[in-house]
Amino acid sequence: MLDKTRYPDNFIRFLGTAGTRFIMLSQRRASGGIWFSCGASRGVIDPGPGSLVRICEAVPPISPVDINTLILTHRHVDHSSDLNVLAEGMTLKSLEPRGFVLLTEDCFEDGDSVLLKYMKKKIKKIALHSDGAIFEPAAGVSVESVLHSHHGVECYGLIFRGSGLPVWGLVSDTSPLENFPERYKDCELIVINTALLLPRPRLNHMSLSDAKSLLARIRPRAAVITHMGNELLDMGSGEISRKLSLPGTKVTAAEDGMTIDLSGAVNGFYPDT
Ligand SMILES: [Zn+2]
Ligand SMILES: [Zn+2]
Repeated sequence: MLDKTRYPDNFIRFLGTAGTRFIMLSQRRASGGIWFSCGASRGVIDPGPGSLVRICEAVPPISPVDINTLILTHRHVDHSSDLNVLAEGMTLKSLEPRGFVLLTEDCFEDGDSVLLKYMKKKIKKIALHSDGAIFEPAAGVSVESVLHSHHGVECYGLIFRGSGLPVWGLVSDTSPLENFPERYKDCELIVINTALLLPRPRLNHMSLSDAKSLLARIRPRAAVITHMGNELLDMGSGEISRKLSLPGTKVTAAEDGMTIDLSGAVNGFYPDT
């Protein structure tokens, strides 16, 4: 079991597990994205509505002023609404520009930028995704962008690497692409945004069967299903993990507030809520 009085050295915490606009709007599941602490890099991937609230409610505590990295996989509002609020936290204590923001070009372009113009000036480094590009949000930690296909917006998955860190990846909102098994093959832990129970190609989202075939090709030690729609939430966590787990791969359906010790996950997976 995790020690509930402190966080592990390297961990992720699900500030939200909502998939689709419907779940976001009802808040059947929270929509705050994923907090990560990887080496010296701390921040949030896809801070959707309520991200700040979920951070402030977290036990043990985490704080927006400790953030030094913010990452958007794409501009959809359930992934981006709290970006500026958290950037305020990231830059609050510094008179000089501070922190690292990674986003897509269509999140940044003038006229329709998700990141507000006045906020851009407060940030030390802003980087734009491109397929295969590798960024260093903090010393000793790298993030690789993986091109996705998601209706009408630029979208990228992520692969984190670093000394003392297991390689872990995020498949964000996307149709299943042929090159995913190759791109994610060295991930020991993979988090998969899985909105759908059954494939619906026009929706450009991963389904449970898409996730299953990807896991069968990659065979990571651990996998977490998140960003779930109503059908998957109705199915329940136990059934999802039963359907997807493979010999050597433990699969868990994320819950709001679930924390995962990244090292523990690949050495006998133990999430805890
Ligand atoms: Zn989404
Ligand atoms: Zn989306």
